[in-house]
Amino acid sequence: MTDLRKEGGECGRDGVKEIQSLLKSIEDYNPDFDRELVVRAFEFAREAHQGQNRLSGEPFIVHPLAVAQIAADLRMDDATIVASLLHDVLEDTEAEEEKVRELFGEEILKLVQGVTKLELDFSYSNEEEAQVENYRRLFVAIAEDIRVIIIKLADRLHNMRTLKFQYRGKKESIARETLEVFAPIASRLGMGMIQAELENLSLFFLDPEAYCSLQRRVERVIRTREKQMEEAVKVLKGRLEKAGIEAEIQNRIKHLYSIYQKLNRSKISLEDLHDLIALRVITRTVGDCYAVLGIVHSLWRPVEGRFKDYVAVPKSNMYQSLHTTVIGPQGEPMEIQIRTWEMHQMAEYGIAAHWRYKEGKISSREDAFEERMSWLRQILEWQQDLRSTREFMESLKISLFDDEVYVFTPKGDLKKLPKGSTPIDFAYLIHTEVGNSCIGAKVNKQIVSLGYQLQSGDVVEIITSRSSSGPSADWLRIARTPGARNRIRAFLRKQNREVNRERGREILERELAKYTMTPEEEAEVSQELKTFMEQNGIKTMEDLYIAIGEGRYRGRRIVNQIVPDAIRRRSLKKKKSSSTSAHQPQEDILIQGTPGLAIKLARCCTPIPGDRIVAFVTQGRGMKVHRVDCPNLARLSQNGSRVLEAEWGREEGQIYDTGIVVEALDRPKLLADVSGAVSNCDMEIKAVRARSTVSGEARIQLMVGVRNKKELEFLFKELRKVANVRRIWRGGGFNL
Ligand code: MN
Repeated sequence: MTDLRKEGGECGRDGVKEIQSLLKSIEDYNPDFDRELVVRAFEFAREAHQGQNRLSGEPFIVHPLAVAQIAADLRMDDATIVASLLHDVLEDTEAEEEKVRELFGEEILKLVQGVTKLELDFSYSNEEEAQVENYRRLFVAIAEDIRVIIIKLADRLHNMRTLKFQYRGKKESIARETLEVFAPIASRLGMGMIQAELENLSLFFLDPEAYCSLQRRVERVIRTREKQMEEAVKVLKGRLEKAGIEAEIQNRIKHLYSIYQKLNRSKISLEDLHDLIALRVITRTVGDCYAVLGIVHSLWRPVEGRFKDYVAVPKSNMYQSLHTTVIGPQGEPMEIQIRTWEMHQMAEYGIAAHWRYKEGKISSREDAFEERMSWLRQILEWQQDLRSTREFMESLKISLFDDEVYVFTPKGDLKKLPKGSTPIDFAYLIHTEVGNSCIGAKVNKQIVSLGYQLQSGDVVEIITSRSSSGPSADWLRIARTPGARNRIRAFLRKQNREVNRERGREILERELAKYTMTPEEEAEVSQELKTFMEQNGIKTMEDLYIAIGEGRYRGRRIVNQIVPDAIRRRSLKKKKSSSTSAHQPQEDILIQGTPGLAIKLARCCTPIPGDRIVAFVTQGRGMKVHRVDCPNLARLSQNGSRVLEAEWGREEGQIYDTGIVVEALDRPKLLADVSGAVSNCDMEIKAVRARSTVSGEARIQLMVGVRNKKELEFLFKELRKVANVRRIWRGGGFNL
């Protein structure tokens, strides 16, 4: 039992004595530990806490040292010990996170941050929300890195050991909080030793009189049973030796708080408490446990209904042992607990046992992860295991987490999602790109559908592909989180933007192509366009194209606004005259069932042999032949013009004028190189018009003479080789 008078008071002023005994303790269980690192952490913490004192009057550094000592008593790894030494530097001193990272690395910084962030305030407020938030934080901390909780418990333990120095008014509330929050956590994590000490200390400060009088009574009762225990040990030892079973037998005295609780609950007297003192037999193997049980039951008569097999069915905090009560050598009931050394470690250290330094075996990352996962699943099961943990549930209000699931990345990072979330939600939580390129998912290494509902404890892996076409509208039905849904919508909107941008660009270009302008006039129009955009709050050409493509602005209306009237009137006249003087093919085009009508090639799409074509009967102006992919076709057929099938006839080496548009990033000599490519193909340029767009692109319109589509395709190929050329497409006709 803790001697409460011994703690505090006799520490060295500078912590040198304490650091030496800390180093010695660590060395005892881990000779290969990083001594230099631990010393460095001590010096850093001492420096940072310089000038701070505890309420006991001691320099503050004794506190982190004591916390580290508790961690060492739990045989924790280097990182936990170093983080224990540093656990108060971020909060209480000027030390910066950057410095801690630089000196001690990311892992230790994360632990220290975890302890700092886990400032739980369970003070007696009725604000349920605040309480729930506390428990939520605690729960997440447990899931993220259990070592944070271990340090937190060590911190609390030392504060409880030195609670007598605390202000009178605060003692009781701290003790109550310890009893109601921290001790149950230790219990849940299977850390029996820490739990017992926290509970005893709490009781001492909450009800010192009850504590002291109970302690005296317990000691008296133990003395009356000493004889029986001694005899029992002797007899059992002899029998075990005979049977060839290697085992250690201990006397275990129930800790004071649990006696106090039992007496209060069941109203029995201390003298009737059979398990006040018990024999504990620790064996090497599980088989030996049952062998010992058999021997015990053959030696002494078991009390009916008192045998419990926690080996076959462990408690929810992973506690394992065989418990039985027998009528002992002097006719008194006596409890006997049987367990292996491994089970013993688990009962004393619980979850901390998994992080303990293991001699001769450095557990791999994967093993550590697996162990952590099994604990986490256990923790998560508490939420479901209502019957056996109702008390804890009520105190921790964990049922309120029912609307959330906790899942893990393949590296073991915890992610919190609303209940009903799917792998798609998870993917977008990781990164937008992961979401957008997600093509499948694995949960606990099994392929699942994207609509799978994630369960707490799942390890989720997202399968991505660079060639994924991105989210589809279906995903909006599958995704549950607003984050994922917003990003899917943004993606779909962006995809639409691209379609609209192209459409808008074509509309505007077609409208502008109706007018013939000198370079000076073009510059003027370009300036007008800028003004128009400014007036309408359109920032880039891209936005303008999208606005037109989406139908927010009419291309023609914009052009009417930015092209000066003089140019428009002039071009209109020209257009009239030119459309009647169009190229006149004779027998090169065959039109279904209407001989004798004049046939003209449409200027808007300048068809050439090889293009699929249709013919329109125009009012009094004969037949006009368009490409089937002419942008004006839809409008023309809506006007009710008669459409006739048409096809190309015999080729007679005739040259046809056709318009093309070359888009390039502007550079010197661009136009010369483009013209050069045309002449290299042995073709004639009939007209050319070049202008730079506001966005720094050059747009070159060409009228070239070709015999057919094959020739044109060859030209396209050559033009694509010209540096800076981005796109080439068929355009309309124009004259200079
Ligand atoms: Mn502390």
